[in-house]
Amino acid sequence: MGKVTRTIKLKFVKLNRCKAQLFEEMTVENTRIANELLSLPLQERRKMTTAKIVSELKSALVNQTIRHTTSPTGRKTKQYKVLPVEVNNQNWKLTKKGDTYSISFPTTRGEKRVPVSVASSHWQSVLDGLLEGTIKGGSFKLIKHRNKWYVYLSVIEDVPEITTETKIGCDRGQKNLAVVASKKACGKFFSGREVMHRRRYFQKRRKQLQQAKKFRALKKWDKKERRWMDSINHTISRRIVRFAEYQNADVVIEDLEGCRKTMKQSKKSRSDSGQSRYSWSFYSLEQKLEYKLALKGLKMIKRPAPYTSKSCCTCGVIGNRKKHHFNCPNGHYHNADLNASRNLAQWDGFSCDLSLKQGVFVMDSSDLNHGLLGTAPNFMNTQKERIEYIQLSLFDPTLFGG
Ligand SMILES: [Zn+2]
Repeated sequence: MGKVTRTIKLKFVKLNRCKAQLFEEMTVENTRIANELLSLPLQERRKMTTAKIVSELKSALVNQTIRHTTSPTGRKTKQYKVLPVEVNNQNWKLTKKGDTYSISFPTTRGEKRVPVSVASSHWQSVLDGLLEGTIKGGSFKLIKHRNKWYVYLSVIEDVPEITTETKIGCDRGQKNLAVVASKKACGKFFSGREVMHRRRYFQKRRKQLQQAKKFRALKKWDKKERRWMDSINHTISRRIVRFAEYQNADVVIEDLEGCRKTMKQSKKSRSDSGQSRYSWSFYSLEQKLEYKLALKGLKMIKRPAPYTSKSCCTCGVIGNRKKHHFNCPNGHYHNADLNASRNLAQWDGFSCDLSLKQGVFVMDSSDLNHGLLGTAPNFMNTQKERIEYIQLSLFDPTLFGG
């Protein structure tokens, strides 16, 4: 059984002004304690106990604050602007009366029970799971966002481990934000055309705001763009997961880390935000895909990026890519993105084993023009656990002119 942790957001319903004020005071007090703790050296912070801190807050809450200041993030912090109150899993309780869920926890004015609402039916099952005990609740944070108060609750779910039969590849790009395909069956395309258009619009307005020096509005605008990108990534990842579930397959994606450095893009297309590879949050798509797959018991597998878009998915020979056309010397034609995702799907098929880390080094250092086959055997590694697969073309790439 695997475990997946995620955070669900619950909104307080019909929160009266009195309680909102109470939460506000608690947050201010919590921030004050945290900042006071930060003035102490780390050694002493570690020895701090709740008995030494004078505060209206319950010791369970103060304890959580002490922990935060000694945690890796707390250690790096110089000063907290706002540190939300955190309640650990032993100090809150979820109850249900009729159709209303309520959460009770200690405040400065005693234990309070406050009704919360679920934003989507999707989360209803999580709350029911918490009540039945099939899902474990972690700590929660009391967070104010746009003048409304929320509970950010982390929940730990058990997910079944599934033995998959196949793999599907997922290629990410500009023209198609994602293309998923298995070895032979037809693929699924997520076109990036509308996204490209909308991003240009975002960029245009951003420029205007910058020139007018309206920085506050600019910040708002950026947040708006990010929210929009997030929602699209949620949609795409959800649909990919559905596709993977249907095929009972794990998803293989390219390891894009360092792709900004190695993959060249002209200055002109970089400055056009519709095309720039720099600002689309592929990383966020990756994260969302990973946890959504994990919830279904499926895996996300990363493979090094080079060659996936350059070799033919039918015969493995290095071919020629021009925009979205891919032609291989043996006469196979594919859509370039589909070709890449099929390559990813069958990556482990035509390969020879090398240590992954060193393998990537080989890939990085060897350009297509300097033959790869001559160098590869030197990097063979016998270490059993760390062996991963690297795809190598069986033909000398220089013969086909890259
Ligand atoms: Zn071919």
